[in-house]
Amino acid sequence: MSIVTRFAPSPSGRLHLGHAYSALRAWDFAQQQEGNFLLRIEDIDFNRCKAEFEDLLKTDLAWLGLRWSEPTRRQSEHLDYYQSIAHRLETDGFLYPCFCTRKEILAEIARAGAAPHGSEGPVYPGTCRDLSEDERTHRIKSGRDYAMRFDLASALEKVGRSLTWSDLENGEIPIAEKDWAELGDVVLVRKDIQTSYHLAVVADDFLQGVTHIIRGRDLFESTHIHVLLQHLLDMPQPIYLHHELVTDQTGKRLAKRDESETLAALRESGVSPAEIRERLGLLRD
Ligand code: GLU
Repeated sequence: MSIVTRFAPSPSGRLHLGHAYSALRAWDFAQQQEGNFLLRIEDIDFNRCKAEFEDLLKTDLAWLGLRWSEPTRRQSEHLDYYQSIAHRLETDGFLYPCFCTRKEILAEIARAGAAPHGSEGPVYPGTCRDLSEDERTHRIKSGRDYAMRFDLASALEKVGRSLTWSDLENGEIPIAEKDWAELGDVVLVRKDIQTSYHLAVVADDFLQGVTHIIRGRDLFESTHIHVLLQHLLDMPQPIYLHHELVTDQTGKRLAKRDESETLAALRESGVSPAEIRERLGLLRD
């Protein structure tokens, strides 16, 4: 079977060395395995994503030597698809509406004392999980905004609590109870749009037949959620690789605001794609 990898950036700024590292790792793996490399545009954060960044990121990736087939999948064009998956999860009882504002969540956490703080920020204290059906209907009818949260307890009851996933370099990774506690009932359908990062990424990797997901260490914990969703939705499980993050001279992770390390700035200052590879420790054989 031929392998499929992908690079899935959000067009919310210029690409920097950290993105180049992710893209090149996925690209090189596809080349080594004689597989297919996809580019996917994850543009569901409407406040931050801009079409102009999409064009610019394609220019940067092509300059690095990457090739992909057009048209690329753009998540904002497939909201109905994500909505149908959310609907399936809801019908099966794995989602519940959450009316809390961010402020209310933080206040509830403060009131309850120390709450686990996971990789995604403060863990949702579960305020809306136990609302009665009547109360839910009443709030929805009265026009309150709501997100849909992942009912982890119900999901784990369905698929069992001893899940693992495959890591390309480290073998089987078990998901511990503590990992779930640090994630909490994450949002799968945002208030402003019919999906969320977690839902769209799982749905698209499935639809596009992605077999190997190569991405940064910052998304390691998200993989637990993705694997649980794949189980619930009867989707095959890809193999994962979470690479280390590229840092600046002070050891700080690069961010989109670090203008000097954008690929555009490096290119304009005369740096070549081969030098970028060298800087990233990705020399070709
Ligand atoms: N769109 C995500 C980002 O730019 C990456 C998603 C993924 O690789 O799963 O951080």
